[in-house]
Amino acid sequence: MAHDGVVLEVDSVSKSFGALAALSKVSFAVRRGQVFSVIGPNGAGKSTLFNVVSGLHTPTAGRVRFNGQQIGGLPPEAINRLGIAKTFQITNIFPEISVFENVRVAAQSRARESGRLASLWRLPEVETGVAELLRAFGLAAKRDALAENLSHGEQRYLEICLALATEPTLLLLDEPTAGMTPGETREATALIRQIASARGLTVLLIEHDMSVVMGISDRVAVLHFGEKIAEGPAEQIRNDPQVIEAYLGPPES
Ligand code: ADP
Ligand code: MG
Repeated sequence: MAHDGVVLEVDSVSKSFGALAALSKVSFAVRRGQVFSVIGPNGAGKSTLFNVVSGLHTPTAGRVRFNGQQIGGLPPEAINRLGIAKTFQITNIFPEISVFENVRVAAQSRARESGRLASLWRLPEVETGVAELLRAFGLAAKRDALAENLSHGEQRYLEICLALATEPTLLLLDEPTAGMTPGETREATALIRQIASARGLTVLLIEHDMSVVMGISDRVAVLHFGEKIAEGPAEQIRNDPQVIEAYLGPPES
């Protein structure tokens, strides 16, 4: 089946919690190699969307397709095995083991699933891949530090490394720069862009802060009260009056 380079298709997805429509008929398509960002004010439905795509929530209606395959409602592990990796707003690293071991465990889970040996605890290619990732994120000097001793920003970086170590086709990031300093945020977003380009990785970036996504996104969709109110190139979104109003609230009269 041809899908015109579309990796992820969210097709008229709704998700309700009781009477509350957290998502209402949201549709968009993410193409291979794109950084696609979904932004919106607090409560817009961004994390709900993230959870639907990653399998934590079953959509109330609509379809989610990954490489043409319907994945809406599949359990998170099944979705992960197909090549979708994610980071959470809460960190999911192992605090009491080293930075290097954290990433190696993640890389290894992937190696095991892809049918390579289970006994590759010291497989050179895994170690090389881990070292490369740590270098890319400026964590090489901290490789033997316990993860719990990293700064908050470094822990966010480590979390992205863990997701990338599984060699996903699609990387889902939910507010990856939350808690970072402005300097770390600039660096992290540039890195995400660079890694997407270098590895042909597709990224779905969920973000509250509009300024974070502007420089790095190929396309931006805007959620407001569970509905998509705009989608387009970053520049167009930045100047869209409806988007500005959603963020600032209605003008005072
Ligand atoms: P965002 O990430 O854009 O801030 P969320 O997706 O977290 O927004 O939330 C969207 C709406 O859905 C909010 O009104 C929130 O209170 C509600 N919501 C989110 N998750 C649940 C849940 N598990 N149960 C009930 N309501 C929820
Ligand atoms: Mg959220």
